[in-house]
Amino acid sequence: MNILFFGPNGSGKGTQGALLKEQYRIPHIETGVIFRENISKGTELGKQAKASIDRGELVPDEITIPMVLDRLKGSDCENGWLLDGFPRNITQAIKLNEVLTGEGIDVHVLVEVMLDREIAKKRIMGRRLCVNDNNHPNNVNIDAIKPDGDRCRICGGELRKRDDDQDEEAIDQRHDIYYDAEQGTLAAVQYFKELSGKTGRPAIVEVGGKGSVEEVTAELIGKLSNVRLRVLK
Ligand code: AMP
Repeated sequence: MNILFFGPNGSGKGTQGALLKEQYRIPHIETGVIFRENISKGTELGKQAKASIDRGELVPDEITIPMVLDRLKGSDCENGWLLDGFPRNITQAIKLNEVLTGEGIDVHVLVEVMLDREIAKKRIMGRRLCVNDNNHPNNVNIDAIKPDGDRCRICGGELRKRDDDQDEEAIDQRHDIYYDAEQGTLAAVQYFKELSGKTGRPAIVEVGGKGSVEEVTAELIGKLSNVRLRVLK
């Protein structure tokens, strides 16, 4: 199953994506993670992306689009993928659809996690990254996933903050891009929703992001199970 996964920064998308990856045994492709890995390894791609990321701006499309299209050619993507953090603007959406259509590949489902902007912001400022595993959720502002002191609640690993998570201006900038329904991420969502209206694909799954991790997961998996058989026909 090929899934596009949308939601504002801080909506819990990364956490839910990690669970879906296990559930459907498909790679969870997160553009933000790919960039951060490249930055920490000091690659050329990382160097090109760092300044934009620090400001909360999008990395230029000339860098991002080929990087994602190349990743989707990976042999692990043959049985499906979960794309998280891409497309993030209308240009990326149009290009992605053009390339996938050209290759006869369908987007089966579009998932949209809905969350109030202020709640999302508070969550962003509280989140911590485990150095051992990016998918170990820790957040000092969410009781259910509070770190164990200053260590990861799952493995006891060291926790770090993302630089762009502590800068309010950068957070606001990221949310401005997400909620921009003209050119930004909501425009990309709308583009695929219109496609869905015309062709029946992708199926649209909307979930509320306010509840606990378990509540959101239950809603998400329930709704995905309902559409799964239909879209895979
Ligand atoms: P995230 O981890 O999804 O919050 O992404 C972190 C940062 O990576 C974003 O604020 C952007 O600077 C960059 N980024 C992630 N995905 C994209 C994308 N699709 N297009 C351009 N920049 C991106």
